[in-house]
Amino acid sequence: VPNAEDELIRRIRRRVPSARGGGLHVGIGDDAAVIRPRQGNEWVLTCDQFLEGVHFLRDVYPPDAVGYKALARATSDIGAMGARPRFFLLSLCLPEKLAGSWLDGMANGMARAARQYGLTLAGGDTARSAPPNPCVGLDLTVLGETRIGRAVGRTGARSGDALFVSGTLGASQLGLELIRQGLSRKKRWRKLLQPHFYPKIATELGRWLAERQLVSAMMDISDGLSTDLYRLCAASRGGARIYEDRLPSVAVSSDLAAAGLDARSLALHGGEDYGLLFAVRKRHIPVIPKVFRGHRITRIGEIVAGSEVTVVARGKSSSLAPLGWDHFRKSN
Ligand SMILES: [Mg+2]
Repeated sequence: VPNAEDELIRRIRRRVPSARGGGLHVGIGDDAAVIRPRQGNEWVLTCDQFLEGVHFLRDVYPPDAVGYKALARATSDIGAMGARPRFFLLSLCLPEKLAGSWLDGMANGMARAARQYGLTLAGGDTARSAPPNPCVGLDLTVLGETRIGRAVGRTGARSGDALFVSGTLGASQLGLELIRQGLSRKKRWRKLLQPHFYPKIATELGRWLAERQLVSAMMDISDGLSTDLYRLCAASRGGARIYEDRLPSVAVSSDLAAAGLDARSLALHGGEDYGLLFAVRKRHIPVIPKVFRGHRITRIGEIVAGSEVTVVARGKSSSLAPLGWDHFRKSN
């Protein structure tokens, strides 16, 4: 009798890159992976959960979007440290009835993200999600590689540094709002869901900035600019001032604005865009490009003394509340 779990692993392996090489000496099929970094390099590690009902709704998400986004969002943190994504481990919890074509679709999406970001699957674990509440759960551990000492954290920003973001702010949240309002199945809005289902992460930009030592602090924007900027400021013991009219906000058409969608609050508080937020010393500002491999780069403000984060709109400055995504907020 063929072992069902082994068959499930074979299904994933057939799709997701998992070949040895490039430092991976022992991979899937043994008890544990054996991986060696290149000389002069060190590992950067992160893990990230993607859970049905918490992070995604299975009746809304295409299966390949579940696989793509789960790996992309985990890998985003590696890029935000300035490291190069290399290997990942997948812990998968799955209801039995999804072990066929749903699993294949999920693995296809994950494979696409793995190829796009240069990742090899080095191992993992699978479990059956049992009644009464069988849900999909993915937990991704991603390893990145960087030159020793070159990883960029959140703590190095200083007063006077310029603040930049990459990509568009609020595009993923716009997709989520369309889903929430029941508009996601309409053909005319379908394209607006792409940034929510398949976020394009900026790992190569993060690496480029870190290797040239152009950034004093960097992070990815996963929970919304307002919330993540607070985190960067707190870690660097500074404040920030940003300018509303400079924000690379998602475009909101007039009919969607009439449905209550507001570009300003999507840009300030919308989560899951996975662009980079980074601080740059004055002397390096001229070196920062306007676009990097398709990722638009925008200077949105500066780090200031103190601890307050303010937003300037029409000449008026007001305090910016961190209203992005918060799993443990009481009102959620
Ligand atoms: Mg992050």
